[in-house]
Amino acid sequence: MKVGVLKETTPGERRVALVPEMVPRLREAGLEVLVQSGAGDGAWFADSAYAQAGAAIVSRDELLSEAGIVVAISRPDEPVIGALRAGQALVGLLNPLVDPGFAAALAAKGVTAISLDGLPRTLPRAQGMDALTSQANVAGYKAALVGAAAFARFFPLLITAAGTARPAKVLVLGTGVAGLQAIGTAKRLGAVVSAYDVRPQTKSEVESLGASFIELTSVGPAAGEGGYARALTEEERQAQQAELTGHIARHDVIITTAQVPGRRPPLLVTEDAIKAMAAGSVIVDMGAGPLGGNVAGSVPDTEIVTENGVTVIGAGALPATVPAAASSAFARNVSALLLHMVSDGELAIDPADEIQAGVVITHGGTVVQAATAALLAENPTGGTAQ
Ligand code: NAD
Repeated sequence: MKVGVLKETTPGERRVALVPEMVPRLREAGLEVLVQSGAGDGAWFADSAYAQAGAAIVSRDELLSEAGIVVAISRPDEPVIGALRAGQALVGLLNPLVDPGFAAALAAKGVTAISLDGLPRTLPRAQGMDALTSQANVAGYKAALVGAAAFARFFPLLITAAGTARPAKVLVLGTGVAGLQAIGTAKRLGAVVSAYDVRPQTKSEVESLGASFIELTSVGPAAGEGGYARALTEEERQAQQAELTGHIARHDVIITTAQVPGRRPPLLVTEDAIKAMAAGSVIVDMGAGPLGGNVAGSVPDTEIVTENGVTVIGAGALPATVPAAASSAFARNVSALLLHMVSDGELAIDPADEIQAGVVITHGGTVVQAATAALLAENPTGGTAQ
């Protein structure tokens, strides 16, 4: 079977789903690798490096007509989707819980959709395939750097002949994978870091990184299924926003990473909270995307300075800004998943396998993944998440 590596088309996307290092491993498993010309350019992986590793460099049309498995970072553009045919597999971060209608459309075409965001993440044998974790790690690291670069003062305590600079006070909201990496990076830069999450079990992880954990008195624990948070009720949300406002005003740099799978990112930093911040403060909103963000008024991929001098950075697409590291990690994840699912050089779909039950979204003309199918049963037109 042939695996085709697409060149990403999302504006600003510099990652590539497979890097040359992984080509020999796939070939050993009986897979041929086709790479769309220029696919790795944005991440500094030249066509010649793929060719040297044993891949064939092809045009997009050749790739789409020859590949049995098409791999991408995220959802390809309409011309690619339109060209996919029955029996072909599409692998990437396809986000079916956010847009189940897309899954339904792929099922109708007979395409097998395999989405890495459906992976059962707490399963130890799936950890090497966990692209959400690998990309969140990259994003959390970069968020701290983006915050430091936009802040008009130092992160560390500096004692010089020209005076003493106090360390920056950084607050990380949401302490999953990205939040913990942001804490570690901000600490390494010398900031004094505090953090908050609605899942109190993250307290020990936060403290082990040398940050202090903020406990809110107005909101109880809100752990959901699979290690994720549940969505808060309207009452809880308001209480949380009000209590957080006081903490936010005491910090110089805020990094928000809060997510609830398949839902709009929760709003944690309100307009009132921003108004209470000092001029020169910085907010990095990693939740900023088409569904909204964690911060009132944040705009994806845009830096805004409010009337009271607070810089709000919409930073929902940070992995694409560290493209070589993010691509190498993604390539390992996607290769591990393919090697798990391929037998004798062919894709072997097995719904009884726990990993496949999570990642195989559509197969044989139907939506087979339970969570996506449940959403479509509720709303057959497949509207996007609220
Ligand atoms: P995520 O991206 O879904 O969310 C980021 C963080 O936002 C989470 O910690 C969540 O609790 C928090 N959050 C959500 N709503 C919030 C709110 N209203 N206020 C404050 N915080 C809020 O999460 P993630 O980083 O992908 O990780 C989710 C979980 O999966 C974690 O428990 C993580 O440890 C677990 N995980 C486990 C493994 C493993 O076992 N190998 C691998 C990866 C992740």
